[in-house]
Amino acid sequence: MKGLSKSKIQNLIQEAIKVRNFAYCPYSNFKVGACILCEDGTLYTGCNVENGSFTVGNCAERCAYVKAISEGKTKFKAVAVVAQQENSFTTPCGTCRQFMGEFGNVDVYMTKPTSEDVLVCSLDELLPYQFNL
Ligand SMILES: [Zn+2]
Repeated sequence: MKGLSKSKIQNLIQEAIKVRNFAYCPYSNFKVGACILCEDGTLYTGCNVENGSFTVGNCAERCAYVKAISEGKTKFKAVAVVAQQENSFTTPCGTCRQFMGEFGNVDVYMTKPTSEDVLVCSLDELLPYQFNL
């Protein structure tokens, strides 16, 4: 594990699991939840929101980021992502990696819905050489 205590990581993961229940995903039935820890200690959660025009949908990670940013938060420490694959870790998609990268490097904690196994990578590890202006 990287910079957070085990209890903070588990809290982040539990919040991501809870918000996953609100995922709007009638097309894929693939529920995802995410929870961000801001540098000031506040948490913001997000779930995926699909749309009949598929490309218009939004991922859980960007949902959580947009909620936080719209309330003035732009400094983040960590993100937890929980989906429903039991046999592999669900990692943020490329669009989310680029989106999150705009706001700096964070540790990303990925877990399976019924497992204590946690994969942790920095965003820089997930998206090396990201685009920057
Ligand atoms: Zn995504």
